[in-house]
Amino acid sequence: MSSTQAPMLNFIGGAGTVTGSKSLIETAEGRVLVDCGLFQGRKRLRLQNWDDFPVPPESIDAVVLTHAHIDHCGYIPRLRNLGFTGSVYCTEGTKQLAGIVLPDSGYLQEEEADFANRHGYSKHHPAEPLYTRQDAVESLSRFQAVAFETPQMVLPGLEVTWRRAGHILGAASVGLHLHESDTRVVFSGDLGRSTHPLLLPPGPIGPADQVIIESTYGDEEHVANEPEDVMAETINDAARRGGVVIIPAFAVDRTEVVLWHLDRLVADGRVPDLPVFVDSPMACRALDVYRSEARNGSPEIRPELHGTELFPRIQLTETRTTEESKALNSRRGPMIIISASGMATGGRVIHHLAGRIGDNRNAVVLVGFQAPGTRGDALRHGAREIKMLGHHFPVRAKVASVELSAHADRTELLEWLETASPKPRTVFVNHGEPKASAALVDAIEDRLGLDAVVAQPGERVRLDRPVPG
Ligand SMILES: [Zn+2]
Repeated sequence: MSSTQAPMLNFIGGAGTVTGSKSLIETAEGRVLVDCGLFQGRKRLRLQNWDDFPVPPESIDAVVLTHAHIDHCGYIPRLRNLGFTGSVYCTEGTKQLAGIVLPDSGYLQEEEADFANRHGYSKHHPAEPLYTRQDAVESLSRFQAVAFETPQMVLPGLEVTWRRAGHILGAASVGLHLHESDTRVVFSGDLGRSTHPLLLPPGPIGPADQVIIESTYGDEEHVANEPEDVMAETINDAARRGGVVIIPAFAVDRTEVVLWHLDRLVADGRVPDLPVFVDSPMACRALDVYRSEARNGSPEIRPELHGTELFPRIQLTETRTTEESKALNSRRGPMIIISASGMATGGRVIHHLAGRIGDNRNAVVLVGFQAPGTRGDALRHGAREIKMLGHHFPVRAKVASVELSAHADRTELLEWLETASPKPRTVFVNHGEPKASAALVDAIEDRLGLDAVVAQPGERVRLDRPVPG
């Protein structure tokens, strides 16, 4: 094979940062993009979503998706607007969840553009959305569901297999087999924790010449804590006072994990059987997907939940309409409200916090990572007041935190890597802040004795075997 035809891997996004995941595979037969994520967070990153795509989008034959988080799939409608006409291959769970999160992302892009126009600040005049809700809906027709552990030919001579990643429903690591060079390349996607109560842990890597692994928590070990102890204490205290417990939670997966813990606390008699409200249209729709996948015995769901109804022991009400949500404002406690967003940066949870946080009978339970600068982070650090909807509110409700992470920590990442057989020639570390990626490289070299490097944005590497001598 000549060097011009050698299969290449090009790190486009997700290198040196935790968002915007995109890796391009080029073979003599064509181009495949592994993940197609949106850059999120700081403005400097978000502006990169407007950059020219490094290759003509119409030259990409297919997109292979690991999971439905926006930082892995949120660029698809944009890619389609720019001329991509190929298929998007992913698992059934990912297809269903993408059908919920992508239109929502389009809606948010439109809102952001409207806001910029009304307040007169924008790079573009008038400000335009990166893509609209309608663009996102139309891009969904490109999605093709593929079963776990079932190789799919996405390009002549390029076969892909999706393996359980235990991160959110549908999440997979993807193994690429390049027939011509007989090399195998595995992308971890985002890896979950073995403690996820609904999903089975990540599956083994199998054979891999090269592995591309995420490093979100490449420099951290999750502290072992017992979330149910903190939840039980907080709920019981609030219930005694007739208070309301507000739980800001990510709409997809985190809401299900919180409900699972509440269900077990009620079953074990550790908390009273209070009314529980899930107040987020996106969370309610994601809940439908988790329920149907459990009922249908999806291979990624823990076997003991196959054929069952999830969360059978709690009084669960889903509030989908704005009217139903507003009606909660005048409802008296005790009760529990789970609502998005998870870091209280927006969404319906803001209205619940504004209405309840000034009352010392109530409580707020934070259930995961809170990015610096968010209201969730301020509350976690004991803020005496927070600003919402243009007003300052005193914080009199009790604030508690539990750690429910959907990401593997350093030890779990290393344990997953150890399942590669034979051992990979090179491990590329991406999808992490520079410090986390560098720490994971050190750990892989020191503890596993494998060659590891941090993937650099824009870097191209050959995927065929080096010729000796
Ligand atoms: Zn993810």
